[in-house]
Amino acid sequence: LADVKFRLSEVLPQIAAHLSQRSERGQVAQYIPPLARIDPGKFGMAIVLNDNSVHAIGDAQEAFSIQSISKVFALTLALGKLGDGLWRRVGREPSGDAFNSIVLLEHEKGIPRNPFINAGAIVTSDVLLASHEPRETIGEILRFVQFLAEDSDISIDPFVAQAETATGFGNFALANLLKANGNLQNLPEQVLGVYHHQCSIAMTCRQLAQAGAFLVSEGRNPLNGFQIVAPERARRINALMMTCGHYNGSGDFAYRVGVPAKSGVGGGVLAIVPRIASIAVWSPGLNQHGNSLLGTEALEMLCKEMRWSVF
Ligand code: GLU
Repeated sequence: LADVKFRLSEVLPQIAAHLSQRSERGQVAQYIPPLARIDPGKFGMAIVLNDNSVHAIGDAQEAFSIQSISKVFALTLALGKLGDGLWRRVGREPSGDAFNSIVLLEHEKGIPRNPFINAGAIVTSDVLLASHEPRETIGEILRFVQFLAEDSDISIDPFVAQAETATGFGNFALANLLKANGNLQNLPEQVLGVYHHQCSIAMTCRQLAQAGAFLVSEGRNPLNGFQIVAPERARRINALMMTCGHYNGSGDFAYRVGVPAKSGVGGGVLAIVPRIASIAVWSPGLNQHGNSLLGTEALEMLCKEMRWSVF
C-alpha cells in the first residue's frame, strides 16, 4: 500500500496538470436547467484506498449532482429487498441505446434492459417505493448514502429535484409505458418523485468515493467495518457497472479504463478497482454519450499509470 500511495502522490498532480491544459471540456448537460449553469471548468477527484486513506485533487470538496450514480445505491437497496426477484422486472444486458431511450422498452414488453438506464432505474425506484409514501423512500435512499459515507451532511438539492420534475417529460413517458405494461406497482408521478429526488442527491467526490468503498472490499465498508452486502452481490453490482454503467459508451469505457464504473449527467463518475480503490471524479462537461469527458480521461490516465484494470 505504501507503494500505491507514493505512486499516487506522483500521478495525481500529473493528471491535474494535464487536464488544466485542455480547452475542450465537453458540454454541460442542458436539459436540467440548474445543471446547465454549472461551471465547466470544475474538476475534482478523490480516491479512497482500502485502508481508508483519501487522496484528492482539485474541487474534490465541492458538492455536485450525482444523478445516475444514485442508481448504484438504489440498486443495492432494491436487491436487498427483492433479491434475485428483481431480475424478473429488469434485465441485465447493456442496452446500446441512450440513457433515456424508450425504444427497447416497447419491443421488450416493458422489461427494461438493465437497472442503470432510466427505464430500469424507474422500476428500481418503484421496488423501493413499495407501499410507502415517496417521502419515506426518498429518506431511506438518502440515509443509506449518508450511512455508507458516514456523513450526515449529504443532502438533496431541492432546486435540481424540482427542475427535473418540471422538465422530465421523457421520464414520464417511460414511467407511463412501464405502467401500461404492468411493470410499475405505484403511480408514475409517485415513482418519479422518488427517482428525480434520488438523482438530485448532491455529494462531493470525497463523499462519493467513501460511499462506493463497500464495492471495493467484497461488500464490506472499510470506514465502519459493516458488511453492506454479501461478497457475491458486490461482485455482481460491479459486473453491471462494468457492462452497463456508461450507457451506450460502456464498451468504450471498459476498453479505455478497464474497471467497473457508473457515470451521471452531472459529470460525475464512481469507479471501483476491486480490492484496491474507490474513485470519484467530477468534471461537468459531457461527451457525446452523456458521460464526463475529462472525468473519463482522468480515469484513463490514472488507471494506466497505476496499472489498475480488472483485465
Ligand atoms: N435524472 C437524470 C434523468 O433522468 C439522470 C440521467 C443521468 O444521469 O444519466 O434524466
